[in-house]
Amino acid sequence: MKRFEYFSTLLPQLAGEKEGPVAPPVVSSAAFGYASAQEAEAIFAGEVQKPFYARMGNPTGARLEKALAAMEGGAGAVVTASGMGAIAMAVTAFCEAGDTILGVGGFFGGTYALMNETLPRLGIEARFCDVDDFARIEESLREGVKLVLVESVGNPNLKLPDLAKLGRLCREYETLLAVDNTLTPLVVQPLKTGADLVLYSTTKIISGHSAALGGAVVFRGVGGEGEKLLSARYASLRPLLEKGKGAIGAILKKRAMRDFGMSANAFASFLTLLGLETLPLRMRRVNESTAKLAGLLHAERVRVRHPSLEGHEHHLRYEAHFPDGCGPLLTVECGTRARAFAFLNESKLLTQTANVGDNRTLGLHMASTIYRDFDELDRKILGITEGLVRISVGLESPVALAEDMLEAWKKAMALK
Ligand code: PLP
Repeated sequence: MKRFEYFSTLLPQLAGEKEGPVAPPVVSSAAFGYASAQEAEAIFAGEVQKPFYARMGNPTGARLEKALAAMEGGAGAVVTASGMGAIAMAVTAFCEAGDTILGVGGFFGGTYALMNETLPRLGIEARFCDVDDFARIEESLREGVKLVLVESVGNPNLKLPDLAKLGRLCREYETLLAVDNTLTPLVVQPLKTGADLVLYSTTKIISGHSAALGGAVVFRGVGGEGEKLLSARYASLRPLLEKGKGAIGAILKKRAMRDFGMSANAFASFLTLLGLETLPLRMRRVNESTAKLAGLLHAERVRVRHPSLEGHEHHLRYEAHFPDGCGPLLTVECGTRARAFAFLNESKLLTQTANVGDNRTLGLHMASTIYRDFDELDRKILGITEGLVRISVGLESPVALAEDMLEAWKKAMALK
């Protein structure tokens, strides 16, 4: 719990100002004037740090980037228009046609589709393996994959990776490790266990209010002993390493954001900063409520899945590596699509939507929505069954949620 105290002190201080307007200013200008031709040249050369065109960043986004970097202990961050924008930026900045990336564990549907369908169109292949298949992970690292991507908690398969072990392996094989930490900000700090990039959909619990789409890549500093980016595998990035500690920021912007334009807008960054101020309070509440709700439903024999439950395959890992919880998700297996629909429709508290990490508790049938275009094999890999309902726990009373869901479950189970 100590970490919540630490972040509750840090984040409100970073989001606002002590003098003048206390709330972060929204600078919505798309373009920025230069004092002289000389200054324009210096800004474009990176010698003067001033905004020069909003596709490459704006002052409100820069404030959010500073806060996110401090939160992760990173050297910097680049905010994006969405979580998918952040993932696409990270992959396309570091990889090129002919490269292979490795996806470890379960993935949110959009990430899986990006790796499985879209990146191959650009000549970047993706392989997938289970979080515990270390033989395959090591084989892929030996064969030279360029980037390893993993979710800190599989959405929605709820498998927990051993991030420290993955970090050690990626360091040994000089391979970049990117962790999608969307569901576990504050309770997991991937840069501390060997990740190079931390990816966020800030649309989720960082904002909490469902009012702003956004994403971010937070990165470590470049340099020092064992610098992976000096490996021959990353030779095409060499010229940008001259930028020193913050070189990953330049790689992300100059090799992806400049040309694909997945840039964050200032108002979304402002709304995200408003969420970030209260993230530690909400994160603590949601983590405690999710485990409590899972326990209450399990005690009533609802088929609920969450790592805090003893029967979960990563329960021991949960206890050892996730002492403050693993985010807002749990799943309920209703057996059939009809029962899953009834469960969702009978609940009075669930909001049915495709988001997660909201202040309200959300529910969604997986197979008929996000995963509807996926074939049977892909659904099997991702743990999607006909009866699977994903719940994202919000700020409501976990006891009230359990009562509501139990009623809905009983009605759903009464169906033939
Ligand atoms: N990563 C995870 C774990 C997600 O759950 C999502 C969205 O649900 C994303 C990335 C994509 O984020 P966005 O919807 O902001 O593009």
